[in-house]
Amino acid sequence: MTGVEPRVIQLVMSLRGSGVTDRHVLGAIERTPRNIFVPERFQDHAFDDRALPIDCGQTISQPLIVGLMTQLLKVDDRCKVLEIGTGSGYQAAILSRLSRRVYTIERYRTLAKEAEARFASLRLTNITTRIGDGTKGWPEQAPFDRIIVTAGAPIRPDTLLSQLKPGGIAVVPVNNDSGTQTLIRYTRTETGELDEDAIMDVRFVPLVDGETKTL
Ligand code: SAH
Repeated sequence: MTGVEPRVIQLVMSLRGSGVTDRHVLGAIERTPRNIFVPERFQDHAFDDRALPIDCGQTISQPLIVGLMTQLLKVDDRCKVLEIGTGSGYQAAILSRLSRRVYTIERYRTLAKEAEARFASLRLTNITTRIGDGTKGWPEQAPFDRIIVTAGAPIRPDTLLSQLKPGGIAVVPVNNDSGTQTLIRYTRTETGELDEDAIMDVRFVPLVDGETKTL
């Protein structure tokens, strides 16, 4: 067995310094080789703390944002998690190490297929990938303990949030007036109301409403 990639140790230390303090989250990041999720031409930057381009004009998120969003979700091994925006599959892979099962939806077939191949190569068998419009959620599998959206929603995604269990947490970037998004944490109370906390400003590719792309 080869040793742990030294660049991942550097990355984990930098994330810890920037506020990712949950050791389970840091452990999941350490065990997930980001280079596998990054295109060939960006391999030199695979462990940099920055977003990078992937196919279909999309991006793999910045590791700090992946770490902070995962930490906000407070995932444990009993959680059934829904992710909207599979992209490279990196965020789903991190979640799969911390939860019982991950359901992830991507509108680009190319990205979904590439992500599935990566999950198989890492033997992450608790992730189910679907090609389609994530704004509708996954009604057949609802309700979910946790929901994460990794694309910027124009407004509060009520259809998705209706699939969140009482006691559940959702983390969603929602467009604000400054042309970026505010990361919002929604908590469904045991009595069914929705609490909202604005966490920080973020910048994601848009969550696109409607038709599935089959590219
Ligand atoms: N979580 C990803 C980052 C993905 S970028 C990662 O770790 O790499 C956001 C992704 O959301 C893009 O791949 C984009 O195609 C997808 N997306 C945008 N709108 C969508 C929708 N309505 N349904 C499903 N996926 C969508």
